[in-house]
Amino acid sequence: METITLDGAQGEGGGQILRSALTLSMISGRAFRLERIRAGRARPGLLRQHLTAVQAAATISGAHVEGASPASQSLFFAPGALRGGDYHFAIGSAGSCTLVLQTVLPALWYADRPATVTVSGGTHNPAAPPADFLIRAWLPLLRRMGVQTKIELLRHGFYPAGGGQVRAEVAPGKPLGLTLLERGAWQGTRATAIVAGVPHDVARRELTQLARRIPQLQGECRVLPHQEGPGNALLVDLEHAAVHEVFTGFGARGVSAEHVADRVAKAVRGYLDSPGGVGEHLADQLVLPLALAGSGSFSTGKPSSHLLTNLAVIGAFLPVAMHVSESGGCWRVDIGGAAPGGLAAAADKGAGPRRDE
Ligand code: ATP
Repeated sequence: METITLDGAQGEGGGQILRSALTLSMISGRAFRLERIRAGRARPGLLRQHLTAVQAAATISGAHVEGASPASQSLFFAPGALRGGDYHFAIGSAGSCTLVLQTVLPALWYADRPATVTVSGGTHNPAAPPADFLIRAWLPLLRRMGVQTKIELLRHGFYPAGGGQVRAEVAPGKPLGLTLLERGAWQGTRATAIVAGVPHDVARRELTQLARRIPQLQGECRVLPHQEGPGNALLVDLEHAAVHEVFTGFGARGVSAEHVADRVAKAVRGYLDSPGGVGEHLADQLVLPLALAGSGSFSTGKPSSHLLTNLAVIGAFLPVAMHVSESGGCWRVDIGGAAPGGLAAAADKGAGPRRDE
């Protein structure tokens, strides 16, 4: 079968192009070549997190791989058969465990038997989904799609110290479609300020500032053992009947606790003020499972560059119609069926998901 060629500089130009290509390649059985990997980033090429994702994908699918070395900007990946079993992957830095998990979990839905996957590295990194987001926001939607996957946070690991660990249990089974056009009635807002090896006062100040910005907020400080730090994360869980969102901010040297709280409050406000069902991050992380299901719709705010780029990568592998449209400031993503114009990525490239057909 013909090798798919992808440009890693397209759109967002980051690591998600690689991770989605790995996942889709394993599931479709189609080899790909990726050039100009992470060309849009200050340090282009494969960093440890990306390399671990490649190695993890190669391990679970018995793939033939060329170019899997640090800083490599070119990769060839030809998958074999997906195999369940017990897997352990170590990033060896504070690189994001959750992004490695997100690469392999969907592929293991198509494996021959159940799997467990343990990944060590960072669990709470800026610019990646924290483990809490995967567990409380992403996974519940996947479960509604019929997927049987559990994720457990075994130990926190904050950037740049790392040292965290997450573990997933996955049962084979293809996802079903999902329609999520409204978030539903508000059910609660909860904030958690986590500190590890950082003065407790930081957490207290974050919650105090957040309470000034967000009404009806219940706040809680969580003090982790010293050795899980140093690290500080501020999480806001926003529960609606149809969707649970998690917004996160991270403390850093030279950034005040009040500033961290203000940034999280702004993200929460942005979501509450938009009519969309899901927030920016859930939107780009939902499209791949929905494309595998072959059907689904959700509403969201203005599409991010991550979302649009992910749709383009999916379109290169799967013969599924994807359509993004806007009406009255609310955006909608439709997957499956005929794509009526707009940003339609209905690449008819042959094989779709293969193992359960
Ligand atoms: P890069 O190539 O940018 O260095 P990367 O490989 O770590 O990085 P990206 O391609 O930028 O990653 O993808 C980051 C992913 O993390 C996206 O799916 C994005 O939605 C998600 N993400 C970022 N911040 C958050 C957050 N606070 N909560 C949930 N998801 C997040």
